[in-house]
Amino acid sequence: MAPDDTADENASYRYLSTRGQDSGFSFEEVVLNSVAPDGGLYIPEEIPRATAWESWGDLSFPELAFEIMSLYISPSEIPPADLKDIIARSYSSFRSPEVTPLVQLKENHYLLELFHGPTFASKDIASQFLGNLLEYFLVKKNKGKTSIAGGHGTLYGHRDSLILYDEFFLADRHRLTFVGATKGDAGSAAVHGLRGKRDISVFVMFPQAQISPVQEAQITTVPDENVCSLAVAGTFDDCQNILRRLQADRQANEDFDLVSSRNWAQILAQIVLYFYSYFSLVKKSASFKTGDKVRFVIPTGKFGSILAGYFALHMGLPVDKLVIATNENDILDRFWKTGRYEKQRVGRGGHGVKKTLSPAMDILTSYNFERLLWFLACEFASSAGMDHLWNQNQASQEVYQWFQDLDKKGVFGPVYRDVIRSARRDFESERVTDQQTIETIKAVYRKSGYVLDPHSAVGAAATQRSMNRTHANTPHISFSTAHPAKFSETVIRALHGEDGFSIVETSLTPAELADLDKREKKITVVNNDWQKVREIINARNSN
Ligand SMILES: *Cc1c(COP(=O)(O)O)cnc(C)c1O
Repeated sequence: MAPDDTADENASYRYLSTRGQDSGFSFEEVVLNSVAPDGGLYIPEEIPRATAWESWGDLSFPELAFEIMSLYISPSEIPPADLKDIIARSYSSFRSPEVTPLVQLKENHYLLELFHGPTFASKDIASQFLGNLLEYFLVKKNKGKTSIAGGHGTLYGHRDSLILYDEFFLADRHRLTFVGATKGDAGSAAVHGLRGKRDISVFVMFPQAQISPVQEAQITTVPDENVCSLAVAGTFDDCQNILRRLQADRQANEDFDLVSSRNWAQILAQIVLYFYSYFSLVKKSASFKTGDKVRFVIPTGKFGSILAGYFALHMGLPVDKLVIATNENDILDRFWKTGRYEKQRVGRGGHGVKKTLSPAMDILTSYNFERLLWFLACEFASSAGMDHLWNQNQASQEVYQWFQDLDKKGVFGPVYRDVIRSARRDFESERVTDQQTIETIKAVYRKSGYVLDPHSAVGAAATQRSMNRTHANTPHISFSTAHPAKFSETVIRALHGEDGFSIVETSLTPAELADLDKREKKITVVNNDWQKVREIINARNSN
């Protein structure tokens, strides 16, 4: 870390780990390392108050993103002109001029459409920004570099995937190698965020013939040289095992410091959504004024988008509640009800993920939840009346202990009553079954003609319950996280035989997605063998 990074007096420019007592990390370290050396996740030392937020109402999406991100990134690390450029490039890839348009479904229920990016799903919001940010830091590091001694490296990872930031394969330049295993959405968003980026190479593994045709095409038809798609002759679990073996192999070599992904920049990018949709609502609604409260309802898997809402709330945005919407993989919903965080058991004593109609939310644990827990634990610690540093250390110790328990026993909690109380002050939670998902797609189509994808339908179902509780007086914004054409099988199953749907169906698939079929696919088929994958990575990286 450059010494001048610590000189910033602004605590929200500096980062700490949720599990350790290390602090003072720079934004660049946070982005390039992804996970802290102690295994914890990075969070800003303080959540900044957005004192000028009410004056942001007329800003465009990129302008608003700049204001928000500037509260978390020191101008000495990324000069304002550079940050503006990174943001502009990230969101010019979206098809809608508003980037994320807000549409009204009915009175007091609005949908924030997050699927106008390159892969037609919400992960583009974070992945497009992250790709440009990584490239920016690499280009900066490589400026004037001719040679560096090899052998040491740190790792950057993304979702069910890994990125190696290393000097192992190429001795003369800093370079990122991204290796990922995907069931679909996360992998395609990563490919489209990293394609064509300098000094980054991308390897995405998917189970051969087992992901949806649209998702496969999105991963395999990009022409860029730095992207390699690997169809593994095996299951998704096999892909994840290969990833783990690569990790173990590198650790054995002590050349690498591998961790899986959880990048803070992905949360940061999504804070913008809350402010932006709030101001869109002010513009769209005759009765809603700046300063009024709104409820957000978020379909959730890894607690990413919704965690960004917690930051927006504590920055000062008038949020009544953040409503968690889970599918039958409901570890979060159960936490809010019981205060216990416990991995789901499937079958006899085994742990397992349940396959649902909203697969991007099929998770066993929600890793970003750790970040929320830290803030809740810190708030609890502050009631002891000690100084802030003591509270922070206390919170990190608490989180460390909880996750030790989770590792050993598959469960922690119940947590302190005050911690649950704070969690319930800011959040409510709903669990939506597959059957309710189908019924919601049907009901919304019948009432408004709007076609929801299954993930967005989980959010819409949770919204309806929240509206019933609040007597529909509070406006609700629910996130629409994927284009229905990406999950057309479920949508067609729900709407088959509905009035007029045959006409809607023929226009359901956007030209960009229909077109994918005709493009040339670049696929490397590989045996279910981690050493073969390693050979491919080595061979391509040494070219
Ligand atoms: C990833 C994803 C979600 C869940 O988002 P998290 O940030 O993981 O909570 C919801 N819907 C779709 C379509 C997704 O791809």
